[in-house]
Amino acid sequence: MRNGKAFPIPVKVKYSCEKCPAYCCSYPDIEVTPRDIERLARHSGLAYEQAEERFTKYDPKEKVRLLRHQKDSVFDSVCVLLDQKTRRCGAYEARPAVCRDYPDSTRCGYYEFLKFERAHQDDPKFIALT
Ligand code: SF4
Ligand code: SF4
Repeated sequence: MRNGKAFPIPVKVKYSCEKCPAYCCSYPDIEVTPRDIERLARHSGLAYEQAEERFTKYDPKEKVRLLRHQKDSVFDSVCVLLDQKTRRCGAYEARPAVCRDYPDSTRCGYYEFLKFERAHQDDPKFIALT
């Protein structure tokens, strides 16, 4: 237990991934660490180098590795690990730390935007096309 409390108070979040087409997974610059790649490799039964090549690409400007993208039917592109049918992470148990931590708050900025547009356009099914 990180906070040392035996009975942490449940936190009610103000976003719903069920009602969202994985907007956060369309973000182009999701950084991954060697530890993330190791986890993805184990999960997929691949060698480290294979997982690194298949799931990530090098950003020479920032000198970091980012999740690769694939073309998408909702957004221009999404993370290569997103299952486009279910709109859920295809490697959920092994997803990178940054994905585990997001949104790290009771609110999600992407979801706030979707909610605003849905109300504004009077279309509860609106999804933001990038
Ligand atoms: S953008 Fe927010 S609401 Fe949508 S899937 Fe990601 S965390 Fe969930
Ligand atoms: S690893 Fe999973 S949660 Fe992270 S961006 Fe890709 S599909 Fe989304």
